[in-house]
Amino acid sequence: MQTKSDRLKALPPYLFAEIDRKKKAAVAAGRPIIHVGIGDPDTPTPAFIVEAAQRFVADPKTHSYALDNGDPHFRQTIATWFEKRFGVLLDPLTEILPLMGSKDGISHLPLAIMNPGDVGLVPDPGYPVYAASVRFAEGEVVRFPITPERGYLPDFAAFDAKDLKRAKVIYLNYPNNPTAAGATKAFFAVAVEWAKKHDILIAQDAAYSEVYFEAPPPSILEVPGAKDVAVEFHSCSKTFSMTGWRVGWVAGNPDVIASLCALKTNMDNGIFTAMQWAAAVALEGYDRKEIHDLRKMYRRRRDVLLRGLKAMGLEVNHPDATFYVWIRCPAGLDSRTFADRLLTEADVVATPGVGYGPHGEGFVRMALTVNEQKLQEVCERIKKLKL
Ligand code: PLP
Repeated sequence: MQTKSDRLKALPPYLFAEIDRKKKAAVAAGRPIIHVGIGDPDTPTPAFIVEAAQRFVADPKTHSYALDNGDPHFRQTIATWFEKRFGVLLDPLTEILPLMGSKDGISHLPLAIMNPGDVGLVPDPGYPVYAASVRFAEGEVVRFPITPERGYLPDFAAFDAKDLKRAKVIYLNYPNNPTAAGATKAFFAVAVEWAKKHDILIAQDAAYSEVYFEAPPPSILEVPGAKDVAVEFHSCSKTFSMTGWRVGWVAGNPDVIASLCALKTNMDNGIFTAMQWAAAVALEGYDRKEIHDLRKMYRRRRDVLLRGLKAMGLEVNHPDATFYVWIRCPAGLDSRTFADRLLTEADVVATPGVGYGPHGEGFVRMALTVNEQKLQEVCERIKKLKL
C-alpha cells in the first residue's frame, strides 16, 4: 500500500530531527535542559482574553459551523485595528480573511494561486513552510539569499530574469525569522515597485510585527498601491501568547484573498467562532498594559542574552523586533556542530541556522521564550565551553 505521496517524499529531510532526537534522550535521562530552540511563548494568554473565550465557548451561538470567509465582527475588528495601527484602510469583507493561524494561509497560498511549474521565490534563510508549500503546489522553489551584508534584505537586482518570468509569488518576512532583521517602509516601497514591474505577488509574513522593542514595524500595505500586488499575513500567536489558539488573518489584495478563501472552502469549515470573538477581544485590548508588559518582558530577556553572549565574544545581531537572537558560530564550527555541542556539553537547545536554508549556515538561533534567569544560566553554561 502506498502511504506517502511523491509530494511528501520530495520534501527535504527534516534538519532538526537529529537535534530533536538528542534533546528527547537528554530530557529522558533527566538532564537539566534549557530549551531556547522554538519560538513558542512560555507565558500564558492574558486573562482578559481567556475569560472572554470561556464565555464565548459557553454561548451556543458559536457552536455551529463558522462562516468560510470569517466572522463579520472579527473582520471589522481587524479592519479597525489595521487603521489604528498602520493608518491603512481595508474593506473587511474583501480585503481581510481570518485564518487558523498565519501558517494556515501561508501554506495554502501557493495551492490557491500557482500552477505546476510556476516559480515561488523563497528567502534563504527562511521559515521552512514557504518552500514546503510551494513544493506541495508542484511549484519550483527558487531561494534568494538574505545576508548580513545587506541587512538580511533581498537584492532585487540579483534575481535571474528567467526565474522572474515564471515567478508567481515572493515571500518576504519582516520582522524576520530567524535573523530578527527588520524592514523599513522605504524598503517595502521598493519591493512593491519591483513586484509591479514583474507582475509577482508579494506574500509578506508579519507574524512578528507586534513583538517589537523600538519603533513599531511598518506594514507593507502602508505603501500606496501595495494592495495591487501584496498580501500580508498576521497572527495573534506571538502578540498575545496565543500560539495554541490558531487565529490569524491575511489582508490585502482582494483577488488573492478570494482565491485563498475559495481553496479553503474546500478544505475546512472556518475557525471556531468563539476563537474569532476571543481574537477580536485580544485585538480590541491591544493597548492594554498586559500586552505592553509582554513586550517589555521580551526586551529584558533580549538584553540579558545579548549582554551575556557579547561578553564572551560571540557575534550577535541586535533585534529590534521578534523574540529571536541570531548568533554567529565561533570560528571553525558549522551550525550543526555548534548546536550539537550546545546540547551535549551545555544542555542548551538552540536551532542550527542551516535548518532555515544554506545561507543560514554559520549561525544558530535562540528564542527568548524562557525567563531571564534561565537565559543567564544559558550564558554561564556556554561560557564554560571551550569554543
Ligand atoms: N511565520 C513565521 C515567520 C513564523 O515563525 C511562524 C511560527 O513560528 C508563523 C508564521 C506561523 O505562526 P501562526 O500560524 O501561529 O500564526
